[in-house]
Amino acid sequence: MAKEYDLIVVGAGPAGLMAAKTAGENGLNVALIERKERITDINRACSMMLVSLAGKYLEERVILNVREKRLCFPWYGFSIPYEGPHQDFYTWVIYAHNGHKIQLGDYQTNVKKGEAGRATTVYNKEVLLKGLLKEINALKVDVFHPYNVVRTVKEGGKVRVVTREGTSFKGTFVIGADGRASRLASTLGLNRGRRFFGTAVTMGYEMVGVDPPEKYALFQIFLNEDPPMRIWMTPRTGKDEHFAMVTSLTSGIDSAAAFERFSKKGFFASWFRKAEKKRTLTSAGNMLSHIENPYKDQVILISDAVWCAEAEMTGAVISGWKAANAVTYALVEGKISREGVKSYLDWWRKEVIEKYNDQDMMRNVALPYVLTPDEIDFMFSLIKEPLPSIFDPYETPKLIAGALAEVMPIIAKERPAMFQKLSKMGSIPLRKVFEGCIRAGFPSRVLC
Ligand SMILES: Cc1cc2nc3c(=O)[nH]c(=O)nc-3n(C[C@H](O)[C@H](O)[C@H](O)COP(=O)(O)OP(=O)(O)OC[C@H]3O[C@@H](n4cnc5c(N)ncnc54)[C@H](O)[C@@H]3O)c2cc1C
Repeated sequence: MAKEYDLIVVGAGPAGLMAAKTAGENGLNVALIERKERITDINRACSMMLVSLAGKYLEERVILNVREKRLCFPWYGFSIPYEGPHQDFYTWVIYAHNGHKIQLGDYQTNVKKGEAGRATTVYNKEVLLKGLLKEINALKVDVFHPYNVVRTVKEGGKVRVVTREGTSFKGTFVIGADGRASRLASTLGLNRGRRFFGTAVTMGYEMVGVDPPEKYALFQIFLNEDPPMRIWMTPRTGKDEHFAMVTSLTSGIDSAAAFERFSKKGFFASWFRKAEKKRTLTSAGNMLSHIENPYKDQVILISDAVWCAEAEMTGAVISGWKAANAVTYALVEGKISREGVKSYLDWWRKEVIEKYNDQDMMRNVALPYVLTPDEIDFMFSLIKEPLPSIFDPYETPKLIAGALAEVMPIIAKERPAMFQKLSKMGSIPLRKVFEGCIRAGFPSRVLC
């Protein structure tokens, strides 16, 4: 007779690996199913910034313990192995297309402070996944790959996980950690009713020889493009390496051509004179509102599968840990139900839906959809002093909004039309702000 599992985890990204590891450590019989041939390969664009050593995310301030080679989550009370390199960076610079900027933290001052001055750090995601997998392999967790999960079926008190390859697995609970385009969210009908804001598309380049004024910084650059596009550039952990990516919320745009224009002409061209592209990584994902109730038929969905944008590696491992512990309690207490995994569902509601929901996330990226590139440039020209150095998804947008509020009187006087637009920005319905992105996107497949 085929083995029955206490828990089947679908997807071996950071969330699924952490869920399988935690459940295995708790003594559950676990199956982990992944569709990739090589589980730890990274073949999608990712900046690999750690959120966050210098701020909080989901209440946590992560600790990088280099001596013990671990990333520690003291607020939640767990740690994960990380034997890889890291590269600190010391400021976050947000540029308009022709060079005016807002800076979070003064670079030189922060470099002098060393670790105490870092905005946060970049890590190597492949090494991180390998560390989690190594710990899983030492536990009683059966890892199955490559298997592509197509659906789950509730059968009596159990769940059957069906794969495209024709194999199926039976368990009491399933944790769905199958990422941004979650098949399980779709087949369980949990995408119904989600609001759609556009399809985020990314074209990223691993590069050597980029020469920005601040070597170890996070750069966010608004391009002079219509529809709006931004560059995000971070150091990588290797010597003289950067990762530069063009992102947009409008699918169908020519990101490669935009990157050529950005890197060959204009204010930033001198940074790229000797630069060489080593590898191209892309990604595409729909921006949908969070799934508010991520449980159905003994399946709990977690992390990017239910988020509006990305949970980040940090949010992914916290979600995996929380969900696996909730399942453990449910099994011990014999509550094979929504009630049994309530601790996870309550955490999800309190920490994400109530504190950092999709409305906040999307308002934070609305600026280039409301102002023109020249207006953004004018606004940035008015903010002369560096803002406090903080890398925190909740606090950083507030700092920037505070700085903008201070220059509003000048904008009102010198650019009344722009002032009108900014004054209305907080109250225009998001559907209106992102109407071009919504029209260009392709949500129907996931929302069915
Ligand atoms: C452009 C970009 C930049 C980013 N930058 C950062 C950053 O700087 N720092 C950071 O921490 N995070 C960053 N992220 C976010 C981060 O990559 C994700 O939030 C994180 O990986 C989510 O983890 P996850 O395990 O939920 O999903 P994923 O990492 O997507 O893992 C899902 C896994 O499920 C597997 N899977 C999917 N469908 C199936 C199926 N049907 N059957 C079996 N297996 C399946 C996939 O192959 C994959 O291995 C970035 C993301 C993007 C797109």
